[in-house]
Amino acid sequence: MTSSSTARPASTEGQVGRSGRPPRRKKGEGQWALGYNEPLNKNEQSKKDDNPLNVRARIINTYSKRGFASIDPADLRGRFRWMGLYTQRAPGFDGGKTAMLEEEELDDSYFMLRVRSDGELLDAAKLRALGSISTDFARGTADITDRQNIQYHWIEVEDVPEIWDRLDAVGMTSLEACGDSPRPFLGSPVAGVAADEIIDATPALEEIKRRYIGDPAYSNLPRKFKTSASGHPSLDCVPSVNDVSFVGTVHPEHGPGFDLWVGGGLSTNPMLAQKLGVWIPLDEVPDVWEAVVSVFRDYGYRRLRSRARLKFLVADWGKEKFREVLETKYLQRALVDGPSPEAGAAGGDHIGVHEQKDGRFYVGVAPTAGRVNGAILTGVGDVVERYAAAGARLTAQQKLVVLGVAGDDVEALVADLRALGLEAEPSNWRRNTMACTGIEFCKLAIVDTKQRSIDLVAELEQRIPDLDVPITVNVNGCPNACARTQVADIGLKGQLVLDDDGNQVEGFQVHLGGGLGLSDQFGKKLRAHKVTSAGLGDYVTTVVGNYLEDRAVDEAFAD
Ligand code: SF4
Repeated sequence: MTSSSTARPASTEGQVGRSGRPPRRKKGEGQWALGYNEPLNKNEQSKKDDNPLNVRARIINTYSKRGFASIDPADLRGRFRWMGLYTQRAPGFDGGKTAMLEEEELDDSYFMLRVRSDGELLDAAKLRALGSISTDFARGTADITDRQNIQYHWIEVEDVPEIWDRLDAVGMTSLEACGDSPRPFLGSPVAGVAADEIIDATPALEEIKRRYIGDPAYSNLPRKFKTSASGHPSLDCVPSVNDVSFVGTVHPEHGPGFDLWVGGGLSTNPMLAQKLGVWIPLDEVPDVWEAVVSVFRDYGYRRLRSRARLKFLVADWGKEKFREVLETKYLQRALVDGPSPEAGAAGGDHIGVHEQKDGRFYVGVAPTAGRVNGAILTGVGDVVERYAAAGARLTAQQKLVVLGVAGDDVEALVADLRALGLEAEPSNWRRNTMACTGIEFCKLAIVDTKQRSIDLVAELEQRIPDLDVPITVNVNGCPNACARTQVADIGLKGQLVLDDDGNQVEGFQVHLGGGLGLSDQFGKKLRAHKVTSAGLGDYVTTVVGNYLEDRAVDEAFAD
């Protein structure tokens, strides 16, 4: 049986409906595997007109020499994303104006640049290169994103070749960091060193990157495709909300390997990934990854951008059919059944000092809401070298972990990182607050997020200084949920709300009680819980204060 025979919509030819008229023909979803090869929207047309990877040469040879005005609009607003470049929001547009303007009307002549880390260990040279790019070309900006990227702002196209040269020199890249492509991977920040690790996914992620990133065969996907792979039992790479996740598990006969989860994603129509209940050995992960991304490329919906994520296909097919198509058409073999890991252990952010399995230590530290800068990144590089540490990794919680620290050096290293503003013993507020890019730079944003979060953390540290439990606060500038609105204890979705005087002002729709890891669930969107940005501190203080007063022993906030 081929998958295409079962997936093809039933033909309506020659049938007559109850009204006596032929039933309306069901519209195709733009699935290549079903023969819908003609582009059905302008994004698809643009990708067909020219493979987005070709824009790299035009940036190097033409645009960087002739300047912003020379950039072809189809490259500027489309293909540049495959190089990790995205026009940033022009200053002066508030959230109210955003709603009335086309995205391109908000274009600035500066770019956001996203550099992928893919869970790799960043040694001193890499950290210094990242820091120097921030200082020399990005007005000092740098954010650690919840996909383990470094994100810069204020980048000018003239500087891009030099930036790429600096990244190339240390083995880093911005290739396919945005766009309808295999986006940056999440890997465990403590891969290979954690004493409780089930299996180290690093070799598989390296091989996937080596084989497939920049391969034109996988550069025209229906939309973005997010990957995570971790063998840490805390589920530290948020597998439930990735398109494909390899999740460490132990098979009773075969030993450590990975289960395969597919179709997770947030934004509108959020869905937790479906667990296939299989067992995949480490060396087969790249082939299975290729098979999953191929299913997405060939069967993913391309007609409507709003339905072009893998989760919609998985929701329509169900996990049984997805597995059948994966096995019969793409792998040409059956996968081994295996146990799906259950809820992860706590501690997936790796903050604090922890002993490694080799007797050295790793130290997880928190900036606030992921915001760092060039001086901090360079400073971390210096710290890594000063103490002969192995390097640093970024986390899916917008944090940073320094690995391979000798026991005698831990105290001094913690103090040096603290001097850089990176705290190994942060308050629970600082530790558990994340924010997306927001209105400062993002064209889709309705509200400010980064500075609002930094101010919120400072306020909450004053008002509830002794918070003794982790309560996650995820601040998002619009419904796209880049900072995972629906899976936080307090998830905040940016929108305009009415203040007490009836004026439209920046604010948030609140989602309460979501979580990942120990409790995979979406927060409840409570209609009455809309809060102005100015009133956010009062709101969180009240909600958390009520919880602290009324909680039973061992009752978590999400309960
Ligand atoms: Fe931009 Fe919205 Fe994503 Fe925030 S959630 S980074 S505002 S698209």
